[in-house]
Amino acid sequence: MNASAWQVAWVGLGANLGDPAATLREALAALAAHPEVRQDALSRFYRTGPIDSSGPDYVNAVVRLRTTLPPMGLLDLLQDIEQRHGRERPYRNAPRTLDLDLLLYDGQRLDSPRLTLPHPRMHQRAFVLRPLADIDPGMVLPQGRIDDLLRACADQDVVPLAD
Ligand code: ATP
Ligand code: CA
Ligand code: CA
Repeated sequence: MNASAWQVAWVGLGANLGDPAATLREALAALAAHPEVRQDALSRFYRTGPIDSSGPDYVNAVVRLRTTLPPMGLLDLLQDIEQRHGRERPYRNAPRTLDLDLLLYDGQRLDSPRLTLPHPRMHQRAFVLRPLADIDPGMVLPQGRIDDLLRACADQDVVPLAD
């Protein structure tokens, strides 16, 4: 395997049903167990108030991966792991046992029915930006610098979980 075939991908994790922190840890383990995925860096876990959603508080985190899967193959894996955790989609923004969003994939842009890259709403969400900044505080997204984007959503409630 040519080392250059390993691409960088960023995945946002969220859950607000069951034991969200335990579910996130299981999802991370399932990702890292895949032969074509390596965990590169992990944010802290955060407790966040539901933004576009409802129900109990969320636990959110972001992981940076290295992968030889193409974007759609990685999305398949994310959705497979969601399904294994009993993800249901009864209505838009319903509470969920596990949500795995592909945020960024190697700087690629894509607009297909199943996959939009970068994730189109990530830059408005403190529960994505705060954990992203844990891993790379100097990051620049297509929509701007991460610290500027975070200032714009300072009203959103995002608190690191106690270890
Ligand atoms: P949001 O996208 O606003 O965070 P959500 O995560 O609740 O909402 P889902 O019900 O999990 O939305 O996903 C709806 C559809 O979004 C999925 O069927 C998936 O194919 C599609 N999708 C498009 N782009 C992405 C992406 N970058 N990451 C994950 N799913 C995506
Ligand atoms: Ca989502
Ligand atoms: Ca999703």
